[in-house]
Amino acid sequence: MGDDAVDVVGRLHSIETFGTVDGPGVRLVVFVQGCPMRCAYCHNPDTWDEVPADAPFGDQSGARPGTPSTVAHVLDMFERNRAFYRHGGITVTGGEPLAQPGFVGALFEAAHSAPAGRVHTCLDTSGAAWDPERPDRFERLLANTDLVLLDIKHSDAEGHRDLCGRGPERPLAFGDELARRRIPTVIRHVVVPGITDDPDELAGVGRIMARWDNVVGLDVLPYHTMGEAKYEALGIPYRLAGVEPMDPGRVPSIRKRIMEARAAALGR
Ligand code: SF4
Repeated sequence: MGDDAVDVVGRLHSIETFGTVDGPGVRLVVFVQGCPMRCAYCHNPDTWDEVPADAPFGDQSGARPGTPSTVAHVLDMFERNRAFYRHGGITVTGGEPLAQPGFVGALFEAAHSAPAGRVHTCLDTSGAAWDPERPDRFERLLANTDLVLLDIKHSDAEGHRDLCGRGPERPLAFGDELARRRIPTVIRHVVVPGITDDPDELAGVGRIMARWDNVVGLDVLPYHTMGEAKYEALGIPYRLAGVEPMDPGRVPSIRKRIMEARAAALGR
């Protein structure tokens, strides 16, 4: 580990000490502040802060809102309860972790070389802040990432722009990079009734998955409306007002449709 890794500062939204849905086992889940996307269903709009939707991509660590926190502070929280996380590790989510590659890279490197033993690292990302022109900025991060949870927001480019305010180019390029590096990746797809659940859309997700042979799983996540109250509190219009939550009972059939499309794309 570089001597400086523990001193690197990130901008955090919050830290959850008992995470059970973002990676294997019980995990310390770090929510970073700031995201360049504007997904209509985002249940964490309080992580957006003032990073404008048209901001240049790049490392947004530093002069932005959020609680400054060092790598040492996060690791200390983990170590205080290490026994508790025996089959888990540390997940960084957000907000968008790739928008702070310096901090997350230092945290993951420090986790891997922790004196009390290597800590499993998981990156939960939309891929939207990946910069294919500057892969060097992400080297430390990707060299120390054990698992990625990668969102496929919408398989259609126009649908992606409508839903998220940005196109799918960077997320897809990031998926290609993960495949090139053979980093185990779980694909996540939030299913919004009437928006991301039609058969063509689901087949498109399956075809995208088929591009990458490092994919080790698929999470079908039912859209819910629990974040709506945050929009009210923040004074942000909720674009999905009136859209019903997805019935979780549909998950198996949706999953089957995506996996069948993937198999067909692979000629299986
Ligand atoms: S990428 Fe994640 S944090 Fe960013 S707007 Fe979309 S759902 Fe919210």
